[in-house]
Amino acid sequence: MSQHQVTTMLTCTRSLIWGGLLALLLHIASPTTASPVTPNINLPIAIRDTARAPPSSPEPEPRDYTSSPIFTIPPTIQQDLSRLLSPQSLILLPSSPSFSSYTHRWSSNPLTNSPTYGVIVIPASEPDVSRTIRYANTHGIPFLATTGTHGIPFLATTGTHGTWHGLAQLQGGMAIWTRNLTKMKFAADGKSATLGGGLRGDDVVPALWARGKQTTTGSCRCVSLLGPALGGGHGWLQGQYGLGADQILSARVVLANGTAVRASNTENGDLFWALRGAGHNFGVVTEVEYRLYDAGVRPEWAYQSYTFTQDRLEDVYRVHDEVMRNQSQYVVYWSLWRLVPEVDAVNPILISTVYYNGPPSEAASYFAPFAALNPLNTTPVLTTDYPGLAAAAQFRLTDWACQPKAGATVYGMDVDSYDVPALRQSYNAFRDMMRTEPALSASVAYLEGYSLQAVQAVPYESTAFALRDRNLLYGFLTTYEEQGNKTLDAAAQKWGEKIRDAAYGNVRQKFAYVNYAKGSESQQAMYGYESWRQERLKQLKRKYDPKGRFSFYAPIKA
Ligand SMILES: Cc1cc2nc3c(=O)[nH]c(=O)nc-3n(C[C@H](O)[C@H](O)[C@H](O)COP(=O)(O)OP(=O)(O)OC[C@H]3O[C@@H](n4cnc5c(N)ncnc54)[C@H](O)[C@@H]3O)c2cc1C
Repeated sequence: MSQHQVTTMLTCTRSLIWGGLLALLLHIASPTTASPVTPNINLPIAIRDTARAPPSSPEPEPRDYTSSPIFTIPPTIQQDLSRLLSPQSLILLPSSPSFSSYTHRWSSNPLTNSPTYGVIVIPASEPDVSRTIRYANTHGIPFLATTGTHGIPFLATTGTHGTWHGLAQLQGGMAIWTRNLTKMKFAADGKSATLGGGLRGDDVVPALWARGKQTTTGSCRCVSLLGPALGGGHGWLQGQYGLGADQILSARVVLANGTAVRASNTENGDLFWALRGAGHNFGVVTEVEYRLYDAGVRPEWAYQSYTFTQDRLEDVYRVHDEVMRNQSQYVVYWSLWRLVPEVDAVNPILISTVYYNGPPSEAASYFAPFAALNPLNTTPVLTTDYPGLAAAAQFRLTDWACQPKAGATVYGMDVDSYDVPALRQSYNAFRDMMRTEPALSASVAYLEGYSLQAVQAVPYESTAFALRDRNLLYGFLTTYEEQGNKTLDAAAQKWGEKIRDAAYGNVRQKFAYVNYAKGSESQQAMYGYESWRQERLKQLKRKYDPKGRFSFYAPIKA
């Protein structure tokens, strides 16, 4: 098949389920340039069902409770919380007309990673978060007072992209929907901004760009700023500036007992350490002081994609491994596997993309090793700016990657290098999954080769993020469309584990980025193997969350 034929076939199938990702293969659109835009934070409109009264009585002290899942949402919760919270907050019950607008998740799999709620609280301020948590701690079993006290389990939810299996253990609990915490206040010196705990990448990136600024955010625009950053936070700019977590200068956190505190290098330093890598475990972060950088220094990105058939896998990953060893801080190497039946009906194809933060003339030497492999298809060299990378990689809100799925789980892992034989085994499992379970054939493998200079410049011991020395992040995404199908879900899990296990090869210690973990990983794999790290995390969990209130997402078992 000629390159022209392949290109034509791919173009014809663009509107099919491969939609956005095929555009990544082709890049036939004109170069993307993102114009500066002002923040546009579209929040669902909720219906207020109750009249507001000013807070009446002093807040109750949190009572003790056990970890038993037995709880009842008090029938008066809406009135109770309405009295306690600010008038701008919202409390929604399942009977509220807009309730379902707030329950959508990226993966809506009720068996694994989609919680259900008996109440949704939408705080408008940090005191609202505090009062909500105190209320949740104090109430929950109005009829069982003699057998102990049980609070209402709750989950802070922001970008709704977490796929940890364990999220679905929250059944009928409370969502603390943080998306109304949208503060953006820029420091006079332009070096930082105070950013609300409810912001998504899509809110932050264009707003900063409009001010000539940028910083490390998740590469996908649909995830929140803090969901990624509290677990590390990988993104395009990490090689230059460090991880998302490394940008946090201070954080305001509402702890498990409802107390609001500030954490920084000078205040609650132990909490500050834990927040940057294990942060989902310690509180609801209402805002952070976040580092910013001048965007005008290197405004341009050049990128090019290469498509290969599966028989080239060994060649492709030998090149990836080689270029990684001398990777510039301005380069990101990505590759993915995906079935494109019009190219090959049974074997997923491989697509590598090189993104370079600089002009095409400088990028040419980074493109050359892949172009020299004589790919099936090579796109033209395109250019964009930092906000435009989302379109370039098909990571905008409207793209396939960001669109909600009936069932989706990421099987993540971190490794040192491309183990080519292991990748062959992993690829074969990925291919076999699609042959045996066609319902899983929209699944994708992402092999993410971010640069690491600024990540590794941060002292290894200085934060809870324990994977700084890992060079590569893989995410195997298994996905299907039939919601609630237990057989299919079991197959997706079996294959997801198998594909990941194969890719680990013979590594001695398995690592998995906490935000790409799904629940079967060890605590060491996510938070580090050193006993001092584990001990410190356990001790901090006992100190800041002794009852394990923040335990539905990658919990530290103290
Ligand atoms: C399509 C897709 C793209 C992704 N891209 C990237 C990427 O580019 N880089 C990257 O590093 N990761 C990425 N991830 C992984 C991502 O970091 C995790 O899925 C993360 O959990 C998403 O956070 P969220 O707030 O969007 O989701 P949520 O499900 O709302 O939150 C996940 C968990 O984070 C905690 N949390 C969220 N907000 C707060 C807060 N304000 N305070 C305290 N805890 C909070 C809660 O415990 C919650 O359970 C991606 C995932 C997907 C599915």
